[in-house]
Amino acid sequence: MSANAAAIRRPVGFAAVEARFHAALQQQSMPHAWLLHGPEGIGKAMLARTLAADCLCERQHIACGACQSCLMMAAASHPDMHLVQRQWKAKKKAFQRDISIDQVRALLAKLSLSTKLEHSYRLAVIDAIDELNPQAANALLKHLEEPLPGSVLLLVCHDVNRVLPTIRSRCLLQHCAPLSAADGRHVLQGMGFAEHLLPLLLRWADGRPGLVTALQDNDAAMQAAQALDQLAQELAGCDLANMQQQLEQAIKQLPPALIARILYCAVRPQLAHATGSYESASQTLAAMMAILRWPQELRRHSLRPLPALFARLLHLRQTLRQLS
Ligand SMILES: [Zn+2]
Repeated sequence: MSANAAAIRRPVGFAAVEARFHAALQQQSMPHAWLLHGPEGIGKAMLARTLAADCLCERQHIACGACQSCLMMAAASHPDMHLVQRQWKAKKKAFQRDISIDQVRALLAKLSLSTKLEHSYRLAVIDAIDELNPQAANALLKHLEEPLPGSVLLLVCHDVNRVLPTIRSRCLLQHCAPLSAADGRHVLQGMGFAEHLLPLLLRWADGRPGLVTALQDNDAAMQAAQALDQLAQELAGCDLANMQQQLEQAIKQLPPALIARILYCAVRPQLAHATGSYESASQTLAAMMAILRWPQELRRHSLRPLPALFARLLHLRQTLRQLS
């Protein structure tokens, strides 16, 4: 290997998926579309990029990290690798709500072009297929019905039940499970988190280390996360002005999915140790589920984050008061 080798960082915890992909590559029986489905934050997009690098490597079936193709992959400049994601809108300082038909059409046009490089595949990673709008999904479906020879689509998918059945049936379905505790710990250690924080972070991440990446090298975010955890542990008796302040900080510093997860982790033990009636417990459970749905609802219905979360947490607080 050259000094530039090993630039491609491999994901942790997907040995079985990688083995299946490499077998297809070796047997030259590569499916034209893989649906890599599993919960958000486990590393599916990184897995897809790594598999693409394996597929395009000029030397072997596992990216060598040293050939021209691997170096271009590491520099995100490979002409036969196309990544499609929601676009960043600089004016609004936000990602677009979905992946557009224009993006899918542009991808299909690129896939139809041949390149000067001597290998047989053109790769595309769509991260994530859940974010295609209906027109974009239909454009992709047309491609799947008549795939271009040599093209391989790696479709990252957070919720397989929300994918059109007609798309699903034309892909190889590959389930990707959350990481084991040992793999999760390994990933978090690799991200540079202090050892004493790992038990808490592992609980929040629950096999999905991507959920806590916002806390990496960010003291303000970590403080907001710990303050939110503390607030949720004392939710039934907390001061409302303080609650609003902590939520404001959390929303500034943390992604919605992590906020929901921190609240859930702190409140779940309170439910487990409750002595109230079955009815009170089921009300608390329903209020907790409303908080877990909050991140998705924000995206789908363009809600204002703070009022939407405050209302849900206030309701959860009331149910907890009835519970104890
Ligand atoms: Zn290589």
